[in-house]
Amino acid sequence: MKLKRTRKERTCHECKKTILKNESYGQRSITLGSKQDGESESFDGDYLVVHQMRIKVDICQECAA
Ligand SMILES: [Zn+2]
Repeated sequence: MKLKRTRKERTCHECKKTILKNESYGQRSITLGSKQDGESESFDGDYLVVHQMRIKVDICQECAA
């Protein structure tokens, strides 16, 4: 994982520790939602509901290692 230096305080998604200013952190994308990738649902025939979302979370140096 590529590490960056943070300019603000963040919280590690893994261990919930605070990543302090100027410490290194990494980012990982995680998937939210329970459906399989690419699955969608038809609503009123012309509306697609996507139940999955990928978001980026902050990971501290120790968890990234
Ligand atoms: Zn951590």
